[in-house]
Amino acid sequence: MAAFDWIHDELASLEQAGLRRSVRCCEPLPGGRCRIEGQTLVNLASNDYLGLASDPRVIAAGVAALQQSGSGARASALVSGRGPLHVALERALSQFERTEAAVLFPTGYAANLGVIAALVEAGDTVLCDRLNHASLIDGCRLSGAKLRVYSHTDLTGLESELEKSRPSRRRLIVTDSVFSMDGDLAPLSQLVNLADDYKAMLVVDEAHATGIFGPTGRGLHEELTGNRAHCLVIGTLSKAIGSQGGFVAGSQAVCDWIRNRARTQLFSTGLTPAACGTALAALEIIDREPERRSRVHDQAQQLRSALRSAGHQPLGDERCPIVPLIIGDPVEAVRWSIRLMDQGYLVPAIRPPTVPNGGSRLRISLTADHPPDALQGLVTALRSS
Ligand SMILES: *Cc1c(COP(=O)(O)O)cnc(C)c1O
Repeated sequence: MAAFDWIHDELASLEQAGLRRSVRCCEPLPGGRCRIEGQTLVNLASNDYLGLASDPRVIAAGVAALQQSGSGARASALVSGRGPLHVALERALSQFERTEAAVLFPTGYAANLGVIAALVEAGDTVLCDRLNHASLIDGCRLSGAKLRVYSHTDLTGLESELEKSRPSRRRLIVTDSVFSMDGDLAPLSQLVNLADDYKAMLVVDEAHATGIFGPTGRGLHEELTGNRAHCLVIGTLSKAIGSQGGFVAGSQAVCDWIRNRARTQLFSTGLTPAACGTALAALEIIDREPERRSRVHDQAQQLRSALRSAGHQPLGDERCPIVPLIIGDPVEAVRWSIRLMDQGYLVPAIRPPTVPNGGSRLRISLTADHPPDALQGLVTALRSS
């Protein structure tokens, strides 16, 4: 085992810098709570924004799907792993996103890798916001295209990169719509205009926006008024939809191309029937119960204003359920997180490399099933921490 010995030293240095991660067993409980090592906590670390992962109708649909089609998909979509539930879910997603077609992926991460690498290659340029999710960055690297990173939401910086990349064959701009660690929003309509002006493609990762943003919860792109022809939407089924999997929604031609070229789709088994069944049920609930979305927005606004009254400066869009509080030092951020845990609140400390050096933070995420008194309690706990 001597060849692996270097890992001991590396782990020790992570430990010393306050950057060593460990995982524990976190058992989900009703009402936006969870249990860790016997302690019941308010779970402010979940992406199940609408509380759908524990909705009895969603669970029943998952059970029915298991009974109808079995436990696994048995093959990749191309071979024999695309059954009636996959077909129904792709149709439902394309209707939901109002596009011609949609393609399922094993995860949102796989969707980002597969789609970006299918759209650009060596000789092309991909332009990436500095704070994009790791999966988008990884997709850009995997593609082999020239990677140009622009400062966070900096349209002037992006435009100058677009100017410089004129000799490239194809150009692709990639962005999160809601930034996962900051809770702020991409300037989407300006990005669409720039893409239009420079004949660039635009990929928008709606992972934290599907079900939450847009007048009817389609994602931030639903707030766009003008031309969407340059814009391709990627989403995940594993956040507000409460299931598992990723998808891309776009024109028939783009989706056909992705079915031919996206390796993370071609060479990976189809989603489990239960994942499809639960996602189908969740999409219906998202349409029928807009009050869940309003509730999350209200909670987010109320928490931000309570935090401000208590002297904090939460980041992010007012309506966004991701509420980050910058601490700076990673060791200090972990101390805050532990003190909150002692008081019954699970709030993760987010540290480099997930966020830039000096940007360690507490990241609170709200869900529709958090009772209001839990949030008031959190503000009090922060005061006494
Ligand atoms: C969570 C997340 C993903 C990955 O989605 P999974 O379905 O969990 O793999 C991709 N992009 C962003 C912005 C995310 O926050």
